[in-house]
Amino acid sequence: MPADAVLIENGLVFDGTGTPASVAPVAFDKIIRAVGPAALDWARDQADVRRIDANGMTVMPGLIDAHCHISFDEPHSNDELFFHRREGLAAIVAAYNARKVLRAGVTSLFDADSIFSVSLDLRDAIEAGIAEGPHMACGGNALFTSVGGTAGMLVPDEGAIGYLKVTRTRDEIVAEIRRQAKRGVDWIKIHVTGIIPRQKASGEIQVWNRDELQLAADTAHELGLPIVGHCRNASSTRDAARAGFDMILHATFMDDAALAAVVDRKVPIVPSLTFQAVLAEHGDRVGANPELRETFRREIAEGGRALRQAYDAGVPLLCGSESGFSITPYGEWHWRELQVLVEDLGLTPLQALACATGEGARAFGRPGQLGLLKPGLPADVIVVRGDATTDVTLLGRPGGLAHVFKDGVRIDTETPTPPRGPLPSWRVSAFSAAPATRAATLGWDSDGEDR
Ligand SMILES: [Zn+2]
Repeated sequence: MPADAVLIENGLVFDGTGTPASVAPVAFDKIIRAVGPAALDWARDQADVRRIDANGMTVMPGLIDAHCHISFDEPHSNDELFFHRREGLAAIVAAYNARKVLRAGVTSLFDADSIFSVSLDLRDAIEAGIAEGPHMACGGNALFTSVGGTAGMLVPDEGAIGYLKVTRTRDEIVAEIRRQAKRGVDWIKIHVTGIIPRQKASGEIQVWNRDELQLAADTAHELGLPIVGHCRNASSTRDAARAGFDMILHATFMDDAALAAVVDRKVPIVPSLTFQAVLAEHGDRVGANPELRETFRREIAEGGRALRQAYDAGVPLLCGSESGFSITPYGEWHWRELQVLVEDLGLTPLQALACATGEGARAFGRPGQLGLLKPGLPADVIVVRGDATTDVTLLGRPGGLAHVFKDGVRIDTETPTPPRGPLPSWRVSAFSAAPATRAATLGWDSDGEDR
């Protein structure tokens, strides 16, 4: 679809850099043509211009979600994700979900790991105009050791399953990175921490050693690829930063050494606390137990302090929603990380908006080239009802987005996404997670009395 010439007037313009917003006209077709008085000049020279009055609204770059799992389709469990998915259908479903994400104002997303190679296929289909969705940068399967991740015994001793590939030796690490490079990944992803089932109480621990991380980083870099680590403890964050990782997801619970390492190299961090925030706040409605909710509340509060120190020392923070799980459905929570940055880390709304736009370009390896309202850059523009530079939650309000443009093409945000029916063998269970006990169903307590 060709992009028409568009002139947006009277809106409060946030350009993606963190500079205070001001009222100015913005003109674009496929690319941003001008911001400020020059926009009026450019529009005057066009044969046909679509004019938008954005009085009382915020005009800003589309959101860049730097942590989104577009191929997962909101599973309730790893079992479902690993054993109940088919490659072709997963790609079609991912295309359905990508539309929802775009309609939520996310014009670019970073997907670190994918089941099969669905995300690569979707990225290419979107770039070719075959599917509708955000710009994508993505990895292939995450590289695991056999104790990696949070899937416990579901992680095999060798081979690939779900979104992961187990690499057992240094040779396998090198071979897998080369294989993924050939298939067209934008990033290599390493799952640097994991849970050992019998040591569950310690949370995620480092399951790649320093030499292996260095080998992976060097191999990726030799092939011109950046490398990103899932790091949910201090030592993993420290060692990934020291090994030259280009981005870190989570960076939970940093100690002084980890903080020094990320500050030293200014490694961009995607804290991705939305999942924890949603569960801590609304977990009672989805059956999460109170202890888990308390754990997540602590993770945000304690982990948040070190993240704030890193930010103050010049480490870029990017907004990532971890969308793609049943707790974080597509199109629902992409704005929520901004609220975490403002309310829990104490950033200003302007700073948080910059993390969700201009800074997000780092996930594409294109800082300064994406996520900004700057002449010559892609016209990824959203118009938000109200002043988003003082209230970031406006981005998430139903009906909050007046317009979404990607590459200058207006996205239809009014027509609801058609509802979907069930897919055969796709979900592990059609029932809720709560067991149907007599107490839950018949209302009988343990001694048979009615409650
Ligand atoms: Zn993730």
